[in-house]
Amino acid sequence: MLKVGLTGGIGSGKSEVSRRLGALGAVVIDADKIAREVVEPGTGGLAEIVETFGSGVLRPDGTLDREKLGRVVFSDSGQLARLNAIVHPRVGERVAELQRQAPEDAIVVYDVPLLAENGLAPMYDVVIVVDAPDDVRLSRLTTRRGMSEDDALARIKAQATREDRLKVADIVIPNDGSLDDLDARAREVWQDLMARRGGR
Ligand code: ADP
Repeated sequence: MLKVGLTGGIGSGKSEVSRRLGALGAVVIDADKIAREVVEPGTGGLAEIVETFGSGVLRPDGTLDREKLGRVVFSDSGQLARLNAIVHPRVGERVAELQRQAPEDAIVVYDVPLLAENGLAPMYDVVIVVDAPDDVRLSRLTTRRGMSEDDALARIKAQATREDRLKVADIVIPNDGSLDDLDARAREVWQDLMARRGGR
């Protein structure tokens, strides 16, 4: 198994890359997606959240109201720790399960938005950074994701700088061209990953 950490600032195109690597044959593990799954209606995770924070954090349809819960934990580190104690172990268990299910020769790509910020590079055999200039990211976030410019800028500023992220990269995927360019680059990177796996 080759463990690949995939990261990139918001709007860099990380999700586009992870989708392409998945299509080429990688086992993709997306921790954010798993963090949502472990608190879906009917899960023990959601039951524990309601026990801890009250049913006020639910929407009328019984799903978790993330914005409301976010406001509860935002400025209260004790509450945040309680939430993390519910979510993190469940995410860890699910990640371990997916890892166990992956074939022995799998190339496993972990989609980790805050890999650089949290110093997680040593956990992976290879770190891929998707890189695009801040102005390109800003324009994607405002035009394609419907964010306001202030919101998008604030999110970019809250993350690591390009330079700090690039420092932990083994492979850089520049993504300031077209999606066709990205297809081609993803295929090259896939060949590179297979060669690295083969050499292990
Ligand atoms: P991230 O996961 O890094 O936040 P996404 O992969 O979601 O970023 O990309 C942000 C937005 O920009 C998406 O709508 C995506 O389809 C678009 N996008 C990403 N790369 C390109 C590109 N090379 N050309 C055009 N649009 C792109």
